[in-house]
Amino acid sequence: MKALSDLSIADLASRLDDWGFKPSHAERLLRAYYLNGGEIPWTELVVPQGLREKVEGGYAASSVTLAARQVADDGTTKLLLRLADGRTIETVMMTDFRDDRVAGCVSSQVGCAMGCDFCATAQGGFARNLTPGEIIEQFLHLRREARAVGKRVQTLVFMGMGEPMLNLDSVQEAIGRIAGPELGALGWKQVTVSTVGLIPGIEALAASDLGVHLAVSLHAPDDETRARLLPAGKRFKAGEILAAAERYEAATGRPVTVQYCLLKGVNDSPAQARQLAELLAGRRMHVNVLRYNPTGAGLSGVAYETSSDEAAEAFIAELRGRRVVAHFRRPRGRDIDAACGQLRRRAAGLPGPEPVKKLST
Ligand code: SF4
Repeated sequence: MKALSDLSIADLASRLDDWGFKPSHAERLLRAYYLNGGEIPWTELVVPQGLREKVEGGYAASSVTLAARQVADDGTTKLLLRLADGRTIETVMMTDFRDDRVAGCVSSQVGCAMGCDFCATAQGGFARNLTPGEIIEQFLHLRREARAVGKRVQTLVFMGMGEPMLNLDSVQEAIGRIAGPELGALGWKQVTVSTVGLIPGIEALAASDLGVHLAVSLHAPDDETRARLLPAGKRFKAGEILAAAERYEAATGRPVTVQYCLLKGVNDSPAQARQLAELLAGRRMHVNVLRYNPTGAGLSGVAYETSSDEAAEAFIAELRGRRVVAHFRRPRGRDIDAACGQLRRRAAGLPGPEPVKKLST
């Protein structure tokens, strides 16, 4: 059975018409479904007799169920969600500096084919793309989780499992319903799509007119180190990726964020910071410097480590000294399986570094 999350307004309108109801009910029902976190609040709506029974008989409220939840001491909440085919994905609710808001992080694929060497998701390989409805349901789960702790989802990033640019049609369709005013009403500017630097995807997203933010994972300024860390880096050079990001900024008016995850002794030297600053000279992109959450040995067998506080501070000082706007991204959920793909691996009984809190559902 299809879920309501699979439907556009036009899809439901057409079905209502088939059943002999006014198609105009579709937008009201689906909007209430999105605002209510994935359930139609029937008792609060005035609807024609028989419509509720038809909708409930024709569609499931959800096809994505909660399999496990981890809550960190800082409030970061990681959800393991089970899809209709039994596969699992991760979705994360991150606390914000403002008490009443949270940021959501969603997956775009089951697993990932990009093979980034420091990523727990990469170790499980790629299974399949998520449908628009499965992406939307992650957002709806986040809305429910946020509401349960008296908060609301303020922003959404596509930085979970998968490379969004390799499932761009579904990602764009999901964003349209999540961010657009008719249904989820989150707002276009509240959404960020992150990529390892797939230039055709950056260009397609720029042409889509969605007006969302873009984040590019660089993780090294030199192509040799980058190709070692991100095999996709072999295909596109750092300079080419930043040029594509610059075109994205020009086309959308949205400043691009460069993501840089510090790995001890690999990409965290002052010389690499200077090289990064040179690449960014004259560009208005800012750098998000991330602290690595260890995930055990990567696909190459290398077990990466977190940079020391001193190295991280020296790295960011080099950037700022060269007029690059750079911020530390606050580490979140360190006492749970915070890195992308860790919780899913643990739930599947696969090895990982020692953590963590018990899973709950
Ligand atoms: S870091 Fe992102 S793109 Fe790279 S393997 Fe992990 S999920 Fe895929």
